[in-house]
Amino acid sequence: MAQEIKVPDIGDFEAVEIIEVLVAAGDAIEEEQALITLESDKATLEVPSTLTGTITEMKVAEGDQVSEGDVIALVEVAASEPAAPAEESAADDAPAPEPAASQPAKQQPSPAGEPAAGEEHGYDCDVLVLGSGPGGYTAAFRAADLGLDVVLVERHSALGGVCLNVGCIPSKALLHSAKVIDDAAAMAAHGLKFGQPEIDLPALLKFKQSTIDTLTGGLAGMAKKRKVRVVTGTGRFKDAHTLAVADGDDISFNHAIIAVGSEPIMLPGWPEDERIWDSEAALSPDALPKSLLVVGGGIIGLELANVYASHGSAVDVVEMTPTLLPGADRDLVKPLEKRMRERCDNVWTATKVTGLKASKNALEASFEGKQAPASKDYERVLVAIGRKPNGHNIAADQAGVAVSERGFIEVDNQCRTNVAHIFAIGDVTGEPQLAHRATHQGKVAAACCAGQKAAFDARVIPSVVYTDPEVAWTGITETQAKAEGIAYEKGAFPWAANGRALGMLAATGSTKILFDPETGRVIGAGAAGAGAGELMAELSLAIEMGADAEDVSLTIHAHPTLSETVGMAAEAQAGTLTDLYMPKR
Ligand code: FAD
Repeated sequence: MAQEIKVPDIGDFEAVEIIEVLVAAGDAIEEEQALITLESDKATLEVPSTLTGTITEMKVAEGDQVSEGDVIALVEVAASEPAAPAEESAADDAPAPEPAASQPAKQQPSPAGEPAAGEEHGYDCDVLVLGSGPGGYTAAFRAADLGLDVVLVERHSALGGVCLNVGCIPSKALLHSAKVIDDAAAMAAHGLKFGQPEIDLPALLKFKQSTIDTLTGGLAGMAKKRKVRVVTGTGRFKDAHTLAVADGDDISFNHAIIAVGSEPIMLPGWPEDERIWDSEAALSPDALPKSLLVVGGGIIGLELANVYASHGSAVDVVEMTPTLLPGADRDLVKPLEKRMRERCDNVWTATKVTGLKASKNALEASFEGKQAPASKDYERVLVAIGRKPNGHNIAADQAGVAVSERGFIEVDNQCRTNVAHIFAIGDVTGEPQLAHRATHQGKVAAACCAGQKAAFDARVIPSVVYTDPEVAWTGITETQAKAEGIAYEKGAFPWAANGRALGMLAATGSTKILFDPETGRVIGAGAAGAGAGELMAELSLAIEMGADAEDVSLTIHAHPTLSETVGMAAEAQAGTLTDLYMPKR
């Protein structure tokens, strides 16, 4: 008898349009073969067959609107396919067949003789993921999508980790507000004058929180849809196959993925005082301080200094090394440094904070360095001197997992720790501590848990400083090339010659691309200016794909866009640039 294939759970969508029908009556089809393509306002999605056999009748056509449960086709099942039980009449005590979505992915033999994920193993879950930041939730969701039974343990009630709750997302919401204020002020010289901004801090923080809630709420919904079991509580390993959850039950696992991230480093010996902030406190201020000292001229320090200076606080930045953003190329940092000096009261490099005294009226910081005064009073002090990994907080030793003195967990290119069935991803595994590294590692670890051959072999991990102007780079930097003796050639294009940049008051920007002199391939790139981070997408792809100057310069970039600066930096290298006069080489 013919069986029905129905539209599966497609999330919150009702009546989604079929934009393509990929099979017809009479076709022999296999399980997992795509049958139709659906398109909502958010995504396109192929619906796979749940059966192997021959289609006897198509019940849908292109342009139809379908919802979960609608019949797509009738299929005469191939001889070896077990007949599906009639939905309502299956005897209660009969073993229910697994729904397709929760069947394990086809397994490779598991390494080191462990039971393969999804096999009978007697544990509470195939994969336990500890920590729900970008690494953890990605790993959990990917593992579930690969058919594994997943438990996600998170100590906070909201999923999303540092990035969504107290990192990337809230800081960018506030940086956007800062940019609007700065852009409005900058237009005064060009015929558009606004009054001073009125800042309603509670409303601004509500806006910030709404961006967080949208994303973290979305994660909770997606976990539910994927049948990922979320357990709230602090987890610590009991042994190599068991995690104890504070105030909860022990959970045994076949594989574990450690994704516990990192936390801010505070200066030792400083007083306990609510007016001394870490980045988390700075993203939820009780008030906009009249004066703020930012200790640390790295990415997080500069982004938050930008936020507060643009919202009206008198900000001083103090950085111990001789330059802001140590490690980044000087030519890219220069326009930002200039802008930060205009925006802030003081930017002191090569200067140390030697102490902090808290009195009722102020925090008195003392300094050592040529530029700074001996001491100065502030309303608030933000410490942004780096983040330490959370490897020491999870009793990893009980599971036999090695943790370095600093708290990092070393992993191989499959993200396996020294214990083969326990993986680690994200900030806890080392630098660069960036969300997009964590998510990509999460996918690799999940695939390995499902027995797939996967490795983290990204050639580049782009870095973006979301200040105004932005500073961004990908692949090899000039600083690194010089330090490591890597030969390179450079094509560069100044934004002063880009029409779009001129109209956006972004003419101080620049884009550069580094090429391997032997192969001609792109090996690194950087940009400074509004939206510089967005330009790294194309350049990262160029590096991953082994593109050379011709590939990039012959790719047509829309006019007028900032992306033309990428094409023209490549033209400068290829010798075909006409938008600048370049003396013949
Ligand atoms: P995390 O996001 O740190 O998540 C770890 C999770 O594990 C947390 O939810 C924590 O509660 C949980 N956890 C820890 N221990 C336990 C335990 N024992 N039991 C249960 N749960 C536990 N990166 C970017 O790429 N772009 C940016 O623009 C950016 N901006 C940033 C701005 C700021 C202000 C900060 C602070 C960071 C920023 N980062 C940015 C860095 C980014 O947030 C991290 O790289 C990223 O969050 C790391 O992800 P993760 O999954 O490793 O861990």
